[in-house]
Amino acid sequence: MKLEKEIPKVLPVKQIKINNGRMRNRRYAMTEVNLTFEEMWEKIMACDQKYDGLFFTAVKTTKIYCRPSCRSRKPKKVNVEFYFDINEVEAAGYRACKRCQPEVEYSPTIELVRNVISYLVNHTAKPLVLRDIADSAGLSPFYLERIFKQETGDTPRTYLEKIRVDKAAHLLRTTDQTNLEIGYEVGFQSPSNFYRVFRLLKDCSPREYRKRMMEAVRNELD
Ligand SMILES: [Zn+2]
Repeated sequence: MKLEKEIPKVLPVKQIKINNGRMRNRRYAMTEVNLTFEEMWEKIMACDQKYDGLFFTAVKTTKIYCRPSCRSRKPKKVNVEFYFDINEVEAAGYRACKRCQPEVEYSPTIELVRNVISYLVNHTAKPLVLRDIADSAGLSPFYLERIFKQETGDTPRTYLEKIRVDKAAHLLRTTDQTNLEIGYEVGFQSPSNFYRVFRLLKDCSPREYRKRMMEAVRNELD
């Protein structure tokens, strides 16, 4: 049984033309990332920087919007809505948070890299190689790897592994799918690779992780 059915509707992907690192004049990627409300909520609770720029947290009571990584006090869940596009969140009357400054970008290549990260998030289940990822952005693999590393400190491949493990952790918490099913669903090509990468990033096995999470929920209920 899958507990989570609500997958946000994915808008038709708006192609952003990129030629040799040049792109159309647009402030942010508008590709809607394929994350559920619950997943986005998890990211903001964890102040997860990996998802900055892919979506914005808007707080209805304060009319302020933030990056996922913002360290300000967490809003109540009922007061939160998520936007994928900075123009839309501003059009809805929200002001940028002074602390995390979601409207400020520090480098000209960040937008390109964000587009690639959106692509990774939306294609976790596919067996991606660098060539595919570079093609999706219209960049050479060499150039992509260089700017990606500059912006994130990771290669696209290790970033993708982190996103896959996040997705797997979410499924371990919220579904009763088996480890095997989850490993494949998030794009690992073999169970052994799934276990290896999961342990590397979470410092425990998928089974241990699920057990811990269930215990944490039980303790909360007590
Ligand atoms: Zn903020």
